[in-house]
Amino acid sequence: MTTDATNALWHHAVETRDPTFDGVFFVAITSTKIYCRPVCPSRTARPENRRFFMSCSDAEAAGFRACKRCRPDAQSGQTPLDVVPRLARQVVAQISSGALNGQSVRALANTLDVSDRHLRRALSREVGASPFRLALAQRLRAATALLSDARLTITHVAYASGFQSLRRFNAAFRQEFRMSPSEWRQRGTGA
Ligand SMILES: [Zn+2]
Repeated sequence: MTTDATNALWHHAVETRDPTFDGVFFVAITSTKIYCRPVCPSRTARPENRRFFMSCSDAEAAGFRACKRCRPDAQSGQTPLDVVPRLARQVVAQISSGALNGQSVRALANTLDVSDRHLRRALSREVGASPFRLALAQRLRAATALLSDARLTITHVAYASGFQSLRRFNAAFRQEFRMSPSEWRQRGTGA
């Protein structure tokens, strides 16, 4: 049984769909005989119709069925609500390993079975950045690592780090670091 203070907290969590409480408790609705995760996007029931449970099995033993929308009975990370964060994580991982070097966002989206637009939206919502911005950061990171190898020419570094031209590499590098790639190299190895 829960205390009044906990009860008030949990009602508030349901009303605000607070993700902090996802997995902590489940909310069952007496009018529909359905139970949900606190983050369920379905319309919230009146407080007097809510009952709280600490586990799915307790809710089911009390005669409630799992909501089809938020899937409280599914393994975490496997429900429809988790699809966007999971997609964003996949995209970030792919871009970090160079998936957009010589490949379009649309082609990357295809390999993940989503639309170009869906991919951009997921990324912007979860990471707050565009695919282009992430890809650029990844290339610049790769470039700074390669520049420390003095045997590689600047042109080699540009292409090896995923830039499609030396001119673009120089421009992007200067914009990010306020110096040219060769200046960066001199400062790095000259000391
Ligand atoms: Zn639900």
